[in-house]
Amino acid sequence: MKNFTYFRPTSPEQVVGLLERTWGNTELLAGGTDLLDLQKEYIAQPSRVVSLSSVAQLKNVSLNDRAITLGAGLTLAEIANHASVRQHAAALAQAAGQIGGPQIRNMGTLGGNLCQRNRCWYFRDEHVACLLKGGQRCFALDGENKYHAVFTAGHRCVIVHPSTLAPALIALGATAEILGPNGRRTVELAKFFRAPTGPNEREHTLAPNELLLSVSVPISGLRSASYEVRHKQAYDWPLVQAAVAFAGGHNGAKATNVRIVLGHVAPTPHVAEAAQRALENRAITEATAAAAGRAAAEGAKPLSQTGYKVRLIEVAVKRALLLAAGMKPYWEV
Ligand SMILES: Cc1cc2nc3c(=O)[nH]c(=O)nc-3n(C[C@H](O)[C@H](O)[C@H](O)COP(=O)(O)OP(=O)(O)OC[C@H]3O[C@@H](n4cnc5c(N)ncnc54)[C@H](O)[C@@H]3O)c2cc1C
Ligand code: SF4
Repeated sequence: MKNFTYFRPTSPEQVVGLLERTWGNTELLAGGTDLLDLQKEYIAQPSRVVSLSSVAQLKNVSLNDRAITLGAGLTLAEIANHASVRQHAAALAQAAGQIGGPQIRNMGTLGGNLCQRNRCWYFRDEHVACLLKGGQRCFALDGENKYHAVFTAGHRCVIVHPSTLAPALIALGATAEILGPNGRRTVELAKFFRAPTGPNEREHTLAPNELLLSVSVPISGLRSASYEVRHKQAYDWPLVQAAVAFAGGHNGAKATNVRIVLGHVAPTPHVAEAAQRALENRAITEATAAAAGRAAAEGAKPLSQTGYKVRLIEVAVKRALLLAAGMKPYWEV
């Protein structure tokens, strides 16, 4: 690992004062479960590392009758186990509780999860210079791509967005509060992510000198759930995830304000608009949930090895909807 200078500021303003206007030379360190790997693999080679461990404000949780606000420094375990998160944002608690294993959930933070780098094996190989590392081409397009995107139209880099908290937060209508050199700004989580195309872009829209302070989830009485299809029950990212939220939809009532967001199928969390339309104002049954699942796969343009994910999208959406509606999981024996 390249030597670096370590900073441990105590306030968000001090953190921002230490950041630079371009990516690469200075990196923020939260739990370190992604950054340290990247440093050890020579993918990230910062000469300055700014630790967030002494910024107490980033650990705050606040709750009022409109929203629950979670500091970016809360661990995934703290989010998964928080009574108010479980009560008002079930999809978020479920997603946080399924990430990695206990070690990752006890070290990894909300901010680090939303800002982690992608898992493409070409990107993670220090000897491969693909588009995101200043090279001329994407090696996954005609290479080994079985864990890559299904919604590929218009994308030169075909990663899948790595965060499983992101689809849940978007489905719940969350917003992010950000601090930069010019003060604070608030952005919808749905607009927080981007599909990177080169070394000067990340998987999110933060500027290099901005800090994610917190995420607010509205308390709107929506029922929600997150369902992941995994290769097996192990410490790994899901193959496909569906996060859903809606009003009503219980005991035969019609579902309204339907939100269906897919994870691990596109370079950003993918809002399944056709599926949302298919279910709006309809009761949730096995048949309507399955139809929404089929609609969710609309627009898919799989790579040579990701065709299998189309069926997984249908399954994940159907099961997430049934879970959120409080129906008995027929797939559990
Ligand atoms: C075996 C394994 C399995 C995993 N499975 C999953 C999974 O299923 N789903 C999933 O979502 N994730 C998964 N992860 C990833 C894990 O969730 C992330 O590594 C973790 O959440 C990152 O948090 P951290 O605090 O350790 O971040 P760090 O490693 O400290 O930071 C990660 C990035 O975020 C930036 N950053 C951190 N905090 C902030 C902030 N407040 N503002 C701006 N930038 C910030 C850092 O600069 C860095 O670039 C897995 C990881 C492992 C090792
Ligand atoms: S998918 Fe993106 S990160 Fe992976 S090789 Fe292609 S350009 Fe690089």
